[in-house]
Amino acid sequence: MKFCRFFTAVPAAPAAHSGEAAQRSTPLYGVIEGDDVREISGPPWEAWSRAAGSWKFADVRLAAPVQPRKIVCVGRNYAAHAAELGNDVPKEPLIFLKPSTSLVGPEDAIVLTPYSQRVEHEGELAMVIGKRCSHLAESDDALSYVLGYTCLNDVTARDLQKSDVQFTRAKGFDTFCPVGPHIETELTPTDVLVETFVNGARRQSGSTSLMVYPCAFLVRWISRMMTLEPGDVIATGTPAGVGPLLSGDSVEVRIAGIGVLRNPVHARNA
Ligand code: ZN
Repeated sequence: MKFCRFFTAVPAAPAAHSGEAAQRSTPLYGVIEGDDVREISGPPWEAWSRAAGSWKFADVRLAAPVQPRKIVCVGRNYAAHAAELGNDVPKEPLIFLKPSTSLVGPEDAIVLTPYSQRVEHEGELAMVIGKRCSHLAESDDALSYVLGYTCLNDVTARDLQKSDVQFTRAKGFDTFCPVGPHIETELTPTDVLVETFVNGARRQSGSTSLMVYPCAFLVRWISRMMTLEPGDVIATGTPAGVGPLLSGDSVEVRIAGIGVLRNPVHARNA
């Protein structure tokens, strides 16, 4: 199934800044069925049923498909990406958090910050947690706690990541976490192609089979540090090929079996 969140009326002008996104009507949860979007009664990680509302997919505007309490990210999970930044592959997963306020949806602008001279894309496969879990054992089926998968762009101020000890500032600016276009439940995450395109040119490409720590390992391992709750998001790391984003760019994260997450890039107040 394909779960989404959507606005029923297209706003008069594209949102240039995250503040404008908040002024739109409240998005609904839905399932994408062919050319239609059918409203559902609540978030797909809760008990839900099909509601009466139905729209043509072409007539709605998608929002980020989740409202996570936390976004857990995994760093250096592809050897070629660790190497391109001069790092070794970590001996255990390197995790950090992005704030929920960094989240934006498809077609929302990534707004560059004057605090950084080097903002980069990181296209990643993201897992959406469907059931609460903690302290999962080796024998537990970790992926049974995952509702589905989506595309995520772990936008990073690379200069600040290097100068700060913590990743919080570099990874945490408003609009630095595009997620979407929808949650795909029918995906086996062990060998899917993750690609990032900027202005139509391919920058990143790698199969999830190249992950140092695969999806099931990550869910189990992270659950031993922090309880994972329904709607939480885990970003699984980025393949090689990260590079800069400039005002006016269009960046796409494309994942085979899911779809395309596209976002324009704007300078602040542009
Ligand atoms: Zn990342």
